[in-house]
Amino acid sequence: MKKKMLAAVLYAPGDLRYEEIEVSRIGADDVLLKVKAAGNCGSDLQRIMVEGTHTFPCIPGHEFSGEIVEIGHKVDSFKIGDKVTAYPLIPCMRCEWCLQGEYNLCEDYDYLGSRCDGAFAEYVKVPASNLIKLPREVGFEEGAMTDPACVALHGIKRAGGIRIGQSVAILGVGPIGMLACQWAGAMGAGKIIAVDIIEDKLKIAKDLGADVLINA
Ligand SMILES: [Zn+2]
Ligand SMILES: [Zn+2]
Repeated sequence: MKKKMLAAVLYAPGDLRYEEIEVSRIGADDVLLKVKAAGNCGSDLQRIMVEGTHTFPCIPGHEFSGEIVEIGHKVDSFKIGDKVTAYPLIPCMRCEWCLQGEYNLCEDYDYLGSRCDGAFAEYVKVPASNLIKLPREVGFEEGAMTDPACVALHGIKRAGGIRIGQSVAILGVGPIGMLACQWAGAMGAGKIIAVDIIEDKLKIAKDLGADVLINA
């Protein structure tokens, strides 16, 4: 196992350095992933250029996929070579919300790429309980989009879901809206209406299944 790796490390807003650092040591319940693909989220741009990460120095990157190259001795549900993606929020598992399974409300969470080191690096350490195994036919780049795809699906569920044949309007077709277009198609929507003020985004939405484009 390599001891050093290259990573994009954020020291302050606007101060991202590509440098050689130590590879993280894993604990008994963690795995080490060789990062194969990582997305650049809108929140990463904001974090890197404006707001900063929660702690410094920190490696950003929370939507990614990779291959397991090292495994903690208590981990038995995964093995070396598994192709995985990960849920970036690491719940404390102790607070009243975690005990009820409401991990998104955790009062003392960690977060890959913001509160602890993320995936803009050759390797990333992840607790095994945060891993999701990727099917063989899903590529690493597609797998890295699991987190934003879930964000889009969550939005659709909060809006009441989609019934087969129902018309769907998507206001704003940035990356999440584009994923929502694809979910709407996969869920059997009738007419998909994409609304945005950027013509290029509307064109992509059309390729992804939007039937009606509105520039407004
Ligand atoms: Zn994100
Ligand atoms: Zn908690």
